[in-house]
Amino acid sequence: MSQRTILEVIDIKKYFEVSRKKLFAPPSYVKAVDGVSFSLREGETLGIVGESGCGKSTLGRTIIGLLNPTEGRIIYQGIDFSDLGKNQNDFRRDIQIIFQDPYASLNPRMTVGDIIAEPLIIHKVYNTKIERLKRVIELMEICGLNKNYIHRYPHEFSGGQRQRIGIARALSINPKIIICDEPVSALDVSIQSQIINLLKKLQRKLELTYIFISHDLSVVHHISDRVAVMYLGKIVELSDKNALYNSPQHPYTQALLKSIPEIGSGGFDDDTILEGDVPSPVDPPRGCVFHPRCSKAIPACSHRIPKLINLGENHYVSCILFED
Ligand code: SF4
Repeated sequence: MSQRTILEVIDIKKYFEVSRKKLFAPPSYVKAVDGVSFSLREGETLGIVGESGCGKSTLGRTIIGLLNPTEGRIIYQGIDFSDLGKNQNDFRRDIQIIFQDPYASLNPRMTVGDIIAEPLIIHKVYNTKIERLKRVIELMEICGLNKNYIHRYPHEFSGGQRQRIGIARALSINPKIIICDEPVSALDVSIQSQIINLLKKLQRKLELTYIFISHDLSVVHHISDRVAVMYLGKIVELSDKNALYNSPQHPYTQALLKSIPEIGSGGFDDDTILEGDVPSPVDPPRGCVFHPRCSKAIPACSHRIPKLINLGENHYVSCILFED
């Protein structure tokens, strides 16, 4: 993995307006992503982990351009996407996505060959039919799919095979970055490890950079180099994987790890067990958004917003207990 930064996400916000209860009531918003910043190093896997509704998938979809950010900048190889206007597509094709539900993301009326070839036609690469056919067969082989199945339809494949089709399609136009949005969550455990191993093999072979989004701390631990923990639209901790799993600093990360004893065993007191639900992102708590569930909260937590500070060796934590 090089130390070169390939992608910078700067203070990205993504708010969705919710319908007003009264005609002249002021608008209210779901703050799905609320000021997220990080740099992605070429060749690394950055895991993004958090409970359902924390904004991790919305963040992935905003980075790839499926959603427009409400605020903030995305800089790819030194180029700010917001400066490009309509020319964004030439650069955005370097960033592709693999979705959670491979069946829902594949057109049931298209054959596997057509599904994998579709991005080649849209982006006008491999212009002739024979070039495209060769490329599709190559992609099927590197993703572990039998090329004789090229004329089959998605319903004729298992869940794991369908995710391999999704990966082949994402790879078709030689992206540099792949956003893996819960790519194994819908699969059986034995198939999960096959897909994770395939992603790791492809990363080495094709020098890919991954953003790996998951709610599963064990899967994220297995594949990631660094891990960002999200809570209610914000990153609360970001660090190298080993530092984060062996010495988590944020009370939320500690509580999450406590929920997987095989990794977090022996390190924490019972009072770190996470209780209650994630608050509504329409009306998030004031101050530190984690304070209603935090076992270490002090009075200042209910009115002061913590900053993401570097504790050293690029271990970032957002908690006022670490400020001054
Ligand atoms: Fe807990 Fe306060 Fe730190 Fe938030 S700022 S994580 S509430 S101690």
